[in-house]
Amino acid sequence: MKNFKDFALDETILSAIADLGYEEPTAIQQQVLPSVLDGKDVIAKSKTGSGKTAAFAIPTIEKIDWAENKPQVLVLLPTRELAVQVKEDFTNIGRYKRIKAVALFGREPIRFQTTALRQKTHVVAGTPGRVMDHIERGTLKLDELKYFVIDEADELLHMGFLDQVEAIIKLLPKKRQTLLFSATYSSEIRKLAERYMNQPIFIEHEDKQMKKSTIEQKLVEVDTAHKYETLKKFTVIENPNSCIVFCNTKDQVDQLCEKLENDGYSVDMLHGGMTQDDRLAVMKDFRRGDFRYLVATDVAARGIDIEDISMVIQYDVPYEKESYVHRIGRTGRAGQRGVAIMLAAKNERRQLNEIEEYIEKTIERVAIPAIDLVEANRQAFETKMQSSPERKVMKSEQLNANIMKIYFNGGKKKKLRAIDFVGTINSIDGIEGKDIGIITIEEACTFVEILNGKGPIVLKAMQNKTVKNKQLKVHIAKK
Ligand code: AMP
Repeated sequence: MKNFKDFALDETILSAIADLGYEEPTAIQQQVLPSVLDGKDVIAKSKTGSGKTAAFAIPTIEKIDWAENKPQVLVLLPTRELAVQVKEDFTNIGRYKRIKAVALFGREPIRFQTTALRQKTHVVAGTPGRVMDHIERGTLKLDELKYFVIDEADELLHMGFLDQVEAIIKLLPKKRQTLLFSATYSSEIRKLAERYMNQPIFIEHEDKQMKKSTIEQKLVEVDTAHKYETLKKFTVIENPNSCIVFCNTKDQVDQLCEKLENDGYSVDMLHGGMTQDDRLAVMKDFRRGDFRYLVATDVAARGIDIEDISMVIQYDVPYEKESYVHRIGRTGRAGQRGVAIMLAAKNERRQLNEIEEYIEKTIERVAIPAIDLVEANRQAFETKMQSSPERKVMKSEQLNANIMKIYFNGGKKKKLRAIDFVGTINSIDGIEGKDIGIITIEEACTFVEILNGKGPIVLKAMQNKTVKNKQLKVHIAKK
C-alpha cells in the first residue's frame, strides 16, 4: 500500500489532496498515477466511485506547465454534469498550483465558454459536440495538448459519440499521452484503443472493498396502480436521510414529485427537460442535503458523485439493462450500506428478465411492507419528516472557506497581466506567493483568489496600493 507522498508529487498538490481529506490512494490511483507520471498511455477499467477522476487529475496536474496559456489536458465525457464535476475536481486538486479548468457543454450560451477559453486555460473537460464546436470556431486551441482523457468511454460510445470522439482525436497532436477510462471493455473500445493509443498499459483494478457490494438489492412485484402506496411504505420503514427515486420519463418524474410534495415530503426533481442552470442548482442543493428525496430520470444515474444516499427506489423498471446498475450505484458508496428497491409491474417482466440476465443474478423478491411494520416505524418517520435535513458541507466549500476572491476594476484593456498583480500582492506585508490563488483577467476587470485566510489583509492593503502604477477599485468579488 502506497502513500501519496511516495509519488513524486509537488507540495502544492499534496496539500490540496490533504485538504480534500484523501488519506491514501485508492486501488486505481495506486496503479494509474505512476504509469501516467511515467509517460505511459493507460486503459483503466474502472467505475465511478473508485477515485478514477483523481487518478488522472493528480498526475496530469503534476505535469502541467503553469506558464503555458493553451490547454494541456482535454477530458471528453458523456454528460454536462460530469463535465462540471471533473472541472471542479481539477480545480480542487490544482487549487494551490493555480490550475485553471473550464467545462464545455451544450445548451449553455457559447459566448461564456469562449470568454473563459480566451484566458489561460490548463484543462478542458467537455462533451464531444461542444468541444468540436469550439475547435471549429478556433476558440479551443489544441496544439499544446499533452494529455487526452476519454472518460466513461463505454457511455460515450453507447450514446453515439464515437464519430465525434474520433474526429477530435484526429485533430490532436500526435505526441501526447492518451488515457482511457471505462466501466466495461468492449470490442469497440478495444478497437478505439488499438487505433489511437500508443502501447497502452491495461489496468483492471481489483478493489476488494468495491467488490464486496454493500448494496442490498430488492424487488417488489406490484401493480402499477399500487406503486405509489408501496413506495410510501418503503420510505417509512427505511426512513432514509436521502433517497433518489428513479422514473423512466420526465412526465412520471413531474407527477410523482408533485404527489410526494403534496404528501409532505422534502422533495425536488431532476430531468433532461429542465434548463441547465436548474439542473445544476438542484444537484447542488441535493448534494448539500437541502432536501431528502430526489425524483429523477436517468440523468441522475450516471457518474454523479453524491455521498450518503442511503436508498434508491426504482419506480419504473428501466428500459435499458445497464441503467439498473448505474441507478443502484448511486447508493452504498464508500463502503456504506445502501438499499436499492425496484418496483416492478407485470408488464415490466420482459425488461426485468433482461436485467437479471445482465447482472447474472436473481434480485431478491420482498413483499410489500405489512401495515403493522409500517405503523411501528411511523413515529420515527414523522419525526424525521418534521426536521430539516442535516446540511452537508461540500468539499469545495471546505476548501473555499479559506479563500477570498477579490475584484479589481482593471484588466486587459488597461494592459494588466497576472504578473503585475502577483508583484503588487506579494509586496504586502505577511503575504507570500503561496497565498495567491487563481487569477482571472477579463477585459475590464480582474479576479484574484487569496488563499490561507489572508484575503482581508490583501483587501485592506490594496486600498492604498497601485498595480502597475494604476490605482484600482478593489472589493470582494460578488461572483
Ligand atoms: P470518482 O471515482 O472519480 O467519481 O471519485 C469518487 C469519490 O472519491 C469522489 O468524491 C472523490 O472526491 C473521492 N476520492 C478520490 N480519491 C480519493 C482518495 N484517495 N481518498 C478518499 N476519497 C477519494
